Amino acid sequence: MAIEQFDVVICGSGSAGICTALWLARCGLRCKILESRQGPLEIGQADGVQCRTVELFDSFGLVEELLRESYHVLEVTFWSSHDEGGKGIIRTGTTADKQPGLSHQPHVILNQARVNNLLIGAMQAFNGQEISYGYSVKSVEVDASATSDPEAYCAAVTASKDNVDTIFKAKYVLGCDGAHSTVRRSLGISMTGDSTESVWGVMDVYPLTNFPDIRKKVAIKSDLGSMLIVPREGGSLVRFYVELPLGTVAKEVTLIHLHDMSQQILSPYTLDFVETAWWSAYAIGQRVANQFTKYNRVFLTGDSCHTHSPKAGQGMNASLQDGYNIGWKLAAVLKRQATPELLNTYTIERGQAATNLIDFDRKFAKSFSSRTLENGPHGNSTFMDHFIASGVYTAGLSTRYTNSVITRTDLGNPALASNLYIGMRFPSVQVVRFCDALPIQLQKALPSDGRWRIVVFAGDLTDSESSARLKKLGHYLNLVESPVRRYTPQDRDIDSAIEVIVVLSGSRQDLEQDGIPEFFRPKTGKRMIPDLHKVYVDDEGYNSGHGHAYNYYNIDERKGAMVIVRPDQYISAILAPEDHDSLASFFAGFFLSPLIH
Ligand SMILES: Cc1cc2nc3c(=O)[nH]c(=O)nc-3n(C[C@H](O)[C@H](O)[C@H](O)COP(=O)(O)OP(=O)(O)OC[C@H]3O[C@@H](n4cnc5c(N)ncnc54)[C@H](O)[C@@H]3O)c2cc1C
Repeated sequence: MAIEQFDVVICGSGSAGICTALWLARCGLRCKILESRQGPLEIGQADGVQCRTVELFDSFGLVEELLRESYHVLEVTFWSSHDEGGKGIIRTGTTADKQPGLSHQPHVILNQARVNNLLIGAMQAFNGQEISYGYSVKSVEVDASATSDPEAYCAAVTASKDNVDTIFKAKYVLGCDGAHSTVRRSLGISMTGDSTESVWGVMDVYPLTNFPDIRKKVAIKSDLGSMLIVPREGGSLVRFYVELPLGTVAKEVTLIHLHDMSQQILSPYTLDFVETAWWSAYAIGQRVANQFTKYNRVFLTGDSCHTHSPKAGQGMNASLQDGYNIGWKLAAVLKRQATPELLNTYTIERGQAATNLIDFDRKFAKSFSSRTLENGPHGNSTFMDHFIASGVYTAGLSTRYTNSVITRTDLGNPALASNLYIGMRFPSVQVVRFCDALPIQLQKALPSDGRWRIVVFAGDLTDSESSARLKKLGHYLNLVESPVRRYTPQDRDIDSAIEVIVVLSGSRQDLEQDGIPEFFRPKTGKRMIPDLHKVYVDDEGYNSGHGHAYNYYNIDERKGAMVIVRPDQYISAILAPEDHDSLASFFAGFFLSPLIH
């Protein structure tokens, strides 16, 4: 049997697999992606892209295409059976899809095939990484005796293409092969949760209807059943999710059945189907794997380790976030930038996220299901209240990772930025770039490129104390023992491992470039020209208003704050700008110095 060897083998090229591979490609690493399909997904499956996932796309430089092609969800309406029986449904409520202040990015809808293809295109552009189609993974084994050697190719994936088996040896294997994961079964990992499965009918249709909200997101909870309507990209395509009665067998569902049910639920409005572009009936149980890894050499991601209903539109998003979490960590370990213990945090963080997801889905599904709440206007207004209260979760913005080597509430002084939460993603607000007056979302300064960031809120540099404090910090960071110098290979730019960003307060017109210590405009690139794009001011932008960043994050400009941000934009620690020791001890917890390679 042929044997091939790769640092990473990814089994499955769905959302989780591609997102992991995208990170590796972004960090310049090659891997092997084995996919049983003969080509990319072409149609169907999930479609909801929550705000946090849009932020993820932005961080990889892909947001413009996503936003241009997608349907933007702005308003949601709620419908229930009329109080007087036999009169069909009436609208019982209307609300904004996203409550104010959650994210600077919208919630959008785009079919999963296109979402995947945007990521695949970026992956190919980063380093030419391709997917190996037609390879069906049959088993995965790990040589437990070799796992203590970080360089060992101790995992072996057997996959078959055209009836010929090949063994792919790897340092790390990702099980991204969906709900019926072969990788999971092969490792003997079981799922716990529901023993029964609810069955959903899903259709992408071109409807002819007099239903007034056909271009809005709609939740209908009527005597005749529950249905979600989600407008799709392009102006006339619409997705219908129909919850089928308990006991329905997915394989026995027909398209005529789904058409009939949705026509009945939408009554008294008329509904004809000009075309059905795609449909499916799929069974799903709320379950989570009892283990996310084997020896920290094989990791399960996405549906292979958690499954749930599509009601809250989380499937594709949760899977992408798993890949987004593990990808940069694997890259850091493979590049010997971080100790392998960093990988422990994947299970800690995404295991908790999966458990929260299942809990949330249970409650959300219960409040939506026509079987569990009374119908009529009151019934659906309860669901509307629940929908609004759940907004931060469904936007993907409630994830808070617990303490670990990279999440340190025990370090420094979190109260210095009391509206920033350690373990949560860094929320964005508009600031103005000092060198060219460009108004910009601060999250744009935190792209997904594998670098850690120290965001220094330095206060107003016209104040002598603030100015002296920043000078002192610049002096420290320039010393060989500072984490910035210590973890940067000598032949690389000073900002290549840890980038330092400064956010000032006050008026930018009261400050000149030479008032900013030189360290914060380092000479980089092949021409070694000072990089002026690292300093921002919390000031009014021309024709774009004021972001009030210090206010928003609740930072006292006289004290300042230093925020350590992970490559995936989550906040690791909040320190005082003069707390150089804590800064050093944080990075010493997992970073590897290039000198000892
Ligand atoms: C028919 C269907 C309809 C869905 N509709 C919705 C919806 O409307 N809304 C919603 O929120 N969610 C929906 N989902 C769920 C959503 O698509 C998933 O939650 C999401 O895609 C999970 O991403 P993933 O990367 O974990 O897995 P997947 O996207 O399932 O990707 C797994 C990949 O692994 C490949 N694979 C599987 N086995 C092997 C093997 N042995 N060897 C090699 N490759 C393998 C598969 O071909 C696939 O490409 C639907 C799922 C299905 C199957």
